[in-house]
Amino acid sequence: MPVGREIVDDCVACYVASDGGWDLNKLRNLLPQEVIDLLTELPAPSMNQEEDDFFWGEGSKLRSMIWKWPGMQRVKSFLWLVANNGLLTNATRVRRHINSDSSCHICGEKEESILHALRDCL
Ligand SMILES: [Zn+2]
Repeated sequence: MPVGREIVDDCVACYVASDGGWDLNKLRNLLPQEVIDLLTELPAPSMNQEEDDFFWGEGSKLRSMIWKWPGMQRVKSFLWLVANNGLLTNATRVRRHINSDSSCHICGEKEESILHALRDCL
């Protein structure tokens, strides 16, 4: 499900409601329900919460959450690949010397990264 260009500059805070929880109405327009279910297991970000922490990266909370998530195994496997930069995009193929063309064959973008494939591509 591609997202519109009008939200490219949005930040996470754009999806937090005035009551401090996730703005589910906005999220439902962007994400499949299973992703919303996973996201809403997390507290919405707030300036009043504990010290900021890395969510992505080695030993991150995200990887731990994916590992423990009780959802469908194939969705869990997909999320694990995304979190570990393991999807075989054209940029990954070039990095692994499988191919020499990192561009997106759908829209022509210079580099088909995971973010491009999942969020930015047509
Ligand atoms: Zn593309």
